[in-house]
Amino acid sequence: MELPKFLIERYQFWKKNTFEDYKEIYQQASKTPQRPIAMIITCCDSRILENTIFGGSVGDYFIHRNIANIVPSKNEKDQNVQTLSAIEYALKVLKTPNLIILGHSNCGGVEYSYKKLIDKKNTKDFEYINQWISCLQKTYNNIPNNFSETKKITFFEQENIRQSIKNLYEYDFIDKLIKENKLNVIGLWYQIKTGSIKFLDNNSNFIDLN
Ligand SMILES: [Zn+2]
Repeated sequence: MELPKFLIERYQFWKKNTFEDYKEIYQQASKTPQRPIAMIITCCDSRILENTIFGGSVGDYFIHRNIANIVPSKNEKDQNVQTLSAIEYALKVLKTPNLIILGHSNCGGVEYSYKKLIDKKNTKDFEYINQWISCLQKTYNNIPNNFSETKKITFFEQENIRQSIKNLYEYDFIDKLIKENKLNVIGLWYQIKTGSIKFLDNNSNFIDLN
């Protein structure tokens, strides 16, 4: 195993500069338990810099990433353990008051699911991805037929956020926290090209966040 040059150089730069600037914050963070202001569930996509977008500092955001930012349904017992264990920790132990699902444009996971669910071919090359995206079947069924393909995929990305939020309510401990006003659930869709964000309003529409 060889440490790539980019890793060493970038680490050294960070240690000398950024870490030095925030040294006291890091030292303080090591002495006290973490108290993140929000949990963010987002996609593995390398273009989503949630800490940069929302000005995150040490200890601000508790992050969980998976392909296509899915919160699986309670019925998906083989699929939900990883995401739900992260949520369970954030809500029960850290008592995080906000839970953000941050979806995005140009999502490879959603686009792949869209194509896969249309042609229903079982591509064995992606055995794990195929298993994971089977969580999106129900969401896929909601895509209106009369949309163009581009519009269908954007709808699919946004509907996935709506469905993930619905799925959250299936878990009793999450449902209880929401009903007791101890947890605020937020759905966001981020457009990579423009840097714009839309949020899910109370009528289940995505509205520009200005
Ligand atoms: Zn994605």
